[in-house]
Amino acid sequence: MFCDSHLHIAECENFIPAHFCCSCAHSKKEFFIQEEIALKSSGKVLCAFGLHPQKPLLENADFLETLLTQKRIIALGETGFDFFTPELKSCIVQQKKAFEVCLELATEHKVPLVVHDRKALDLVFFYSAGLKKCASVVFHSFAFTARDAASILNHGINAYFSFGKPLLNGNKKSIGCVKELPLEKILLETDAPYQTLKGEEKTSPLQIKQIYEKACEVRGMNMETLENCMFKNFFTAFGVSNLNSL
Ligand SMILES: [Zn+2]
Repeated sequence: MFCDSHLHIAECENFIPAHFCCSCAHSKKEFFIQEEIALKSSGKVLCAFGLHPQKPLLENADFLETLLTQKRIIALGETGFDFFTPELKSCIVQQKKAFEVCLELATEHKVPLVVHDRKALDLVFFYSAGLKKCASVVFHSFAFTARDAASILNHGINAYFSFGKPLLNGNKKSIGCVKELPLEKILLETDAPYQTLKGEEKTSPLQIKQIYEKACEVRGMNMETLENCMFKNFFTAFGVSNLNSL
């Protein structure tokens, strides 16, 4: 069995995965498509909704709260910080506001928080007291070092670190994390349709297979053992007991 920690549905409407995954929507339109797919997926696709740092739409906060109250999402995210370009960095105030709203709601509703963070690791530590109160925090496409991940864990945050296509690109930080982090803190993802390799137009969620193969190679593990571990991590990170209430 394969399990993905994260999947953008917008580009793959007809995809019903053979494995469990959490899909993050960031607009009402995207969410309704995602929810329809999730309903047809026999519980394989778990829905999440968040105020994404690349488009921190605070006007969606009420919609997010409604989804939480109605238990239509299993996790809150993506949210976080993205300072990859000067334009994105100029939105720091909106990004912080959106993140603070999400952090408060995730704590109040006791749901996992899925964090997108590019070039803003310091803010994870700045908000560590709040993050500590979250049921769990899934750092999607974690772009920092194994030492940084260890430091996040040492701050008392119940963190999971998810890795995807950069592993196939030979990204040293991602490979180092997958090699060195405690296995029970690792998740794997595609970030479909994003994070394409050279020459690819988009990422397919089916490429999760290649990511699992690469993770097996890096860890020196066989596929069956890795699959079992990822399955367990996925349900621990996203709260298996909540599944029955959806
Ligand atoms: Zn992201």
